[in-house]
Amino acid sequence: MAREVKEYTCIVCPMGCPLKAELEDGKVVRVTGNSCPRGEKYAVTESTAPRRVLTSTVRVTGGHLPLCPVRTKGDIPKEKLFDAMKAVNALRIEAPVSIGKVLIENICGTGVPLVATRDIHKA
Ligand code: SF4
Repeated sequence: MAREVKEYTCIVCPMGCPLKAELEDGKVVRVTGNSCPRGEKYAVTESTAPRRVLTSTVRVTGGHLPLCPVRTKGDIPKEKLFDAMKAVNALRIEAPVSIGKVLIENICGTGVPLVATRDIHKA
């Protein structure tokens, strides 16, 4: 039986609890260090299928700024980050852009949209 211990800092809230996840054959069997159930859930996800929110910028034509900050509206599988970043880099949008506007409906098949996080006015 393969045993492993992974250590994390919980990022779900500002408390930043130090977490330990004990795994047997790749399956989490115990989580310690968490002050609430959300920490346990975070440690299990981080150990088995880590996810991240992607934040970046997209080129804008005709805007008062050349770049628009964007983010995924939720977390996406960590292994999809590289492909998602390529999709973001290839994207070009035109001003005006409203905060919250969906720029990609379903980024890399994750079911999560990419949205603008600020208004860009016409130049
Ligand atoms: S375990 Fe709970 S209290 Fe601790 S950082 Fe995570 S969410 Fe916050």
